[in-house]
Amino acid sequence: MSEKQTFSGNRGLQLEEPLIFEIGSYQNCGVDLDEVPDVASRLGDCAAAGDVDLPGLSEPEAMRHFVRLSQKNHAIDAGLYPLGSCTMKHNPRLNEKMARLPGFSDIHPLQPQATVQGALELMDDLAHWLKTLTGLPAVALSPKAGAHGELCGMMAIRAAIEAKGELATRNRVLVPESAHGTNPATAALLGFKVDGIPANAEGRVDLAAFKEKLGDDVAAIMLTNPNTCGLFERDIIEIADALHDVGGYFYCDGANFNAIVGRVRPGDLGVDAMHINLHKTFSTPHGGGGPGSGPTVLSDRLAAFAPLPFVVSGDDGFSLVETMVDARLGADENPFGRMVAFHGQMGMYVRALSYMMSHGADGLRQVAEDAVLNANYILASLRDVMTAPFDNGPKAPCMHEALFDDSFLKDTGLDTLDFAKAMIDEGYHPMTMYFPLVVHGAMLIEPTETESKASLDLFIATMRDLVKGAKEGDMARFKNAPELAPRRRLDETQAARNPILRWQEREPEAQAAE
Ligand SMILES: *Cc1c(COP(=O)(O)O)cnc(C)c1O
Repeated sequence: MSEKQTFSGNRGLQLEEPLIFEIGSYQNCGVDLDEVPDVASRLGDCAAAGDVDLPGLSEPEAMRHFVRLSQKNHAIDAGLYPLGSCTMKHNPRLNEKMARLPGFSDIHPLQPQATVQGALELMDDLAHWLKTLTGLPAVALSPKAGAHGELCGMMAIRAAIEAKGELATRNRVLVPESAHGTNPATAALLGFKVDGIPANAEGRVDLAAFKEKLGDDVAAIMLTNPNTCGLFERDIIEIADALHDVGGYFYCDGANFNAIVGRVRPGDLGVDAMHINLHKTFSTPHGGGGPGSGPTVLSDRLAAFAPLPFVVSGDDGFSLVETMVDARLGADENPFGRMVAFHGQMGMYVRALSYMMSHGADGLRQVAEDAVLNANYILASLRDVMTAPFDNGPKAPCMHEALFDDSFLKDTGLDTLDFAKAMIDEGYHPMTMYFPLVVHGAMLIEPTETESKASLDLFIATMRDLVKGAKEGDMARFKNAPELAPRRRLDETQAARNPILRWQEREPEAQAAE
């Protein structure tokens, strides 16, 4: 690699970019504003005395600043992004076009409902698709992320338990060891006791251990299916039946719905509540690229407790039920409250419905089949050089993601983190690392259905070459990585535990000394 130093600090057309506070100044402004006329301030003591110290940039400077920053990170639009369990899939441009239609993008949540009938109809259509795909009768559209949807589903469960007068005694939530951290966190936040269920040697819920945990105090189980080891929980119906027999509710974490959408209806498996990450399964932008959206479907046993607001249709068109008073007018509705100030992520609703309608029911089934096929292609192409702990050979395929552990790195002096960092130099975002916790040094790879065979083949060849480098003891390739990224290996623990969120002007001496 070239260590060549440049005068500007830029590396070719990869431009260095300081913080906006270091380049902007209060005096600069991107727009030409009129002088403020003489008006008597009514702010009294509350009026700000000095400058607010917000950095200003001209329009081209502001544009360059954010474009340069955006190029420092990897994105699904730039290349394969194999994060497992996250379903980083292509965001079709058609969705973006639809979301920018003025009838969806230029409306205000407080506008009279008669003027936004199309938007309300779209929400109703989306609800219909989600209910049909999951086989469940109700949906709360408003939660703004998967974790928020979990909270919504578990609040509906708690409301149902409370309505039966069992809240004091029914207070234990079962969570498999392979669960995403948001599951136990949600249960704990609502005051439930979290009780772990071990995995069996196959990476699935240990059915016997689960049954031993059942009792009158079990409020719910929070189960992911396919689970975070990339495996379908085969005993799911038996689990649901046994749980229902003791009066518990079945919360399914639907983050991995991409693997089974159009093929399996969670309602048929006995699920009572499940969030759907529109930003995973239904192709809306993800992470830094856009707000999430986590609608939560509910079974008959929970439908009455669905939070406000919700869309209803009648002779006068569509309307939103916004208040408890409106809701109680309807037969047996008993909303537990509301999750958000307005109606949720309208732009994501448009993108998700656009994706559903452009694929159709058959196309969505194909999504699941291709996602599973791609993951199995990766597993089959890497199983001889990497180690897959729950791999039972070609006759027992995985679902949408392939799980490896770090035993293939034994005696190399390298660990999962080193391997992942070397992937960055090769132009790949690392797979999900060290999760699920049930596997040592886990590497969870989810290619999604939108990667072509050519793109998978290049990825596989790169992974094989990295394994070869690791086995041959090419330590520098791993321990120094990433060498080609804008920033090298950062202290991620320090950044997470001790984030510096406020810019402070550096002492001039300190700058000079560097
Ligand atoms: C992504 C994910 C979540 C949380 O979803 P967010 O939208 O990130 O809040 C929960 N469970 C699993 C298994 C996930 O993969």
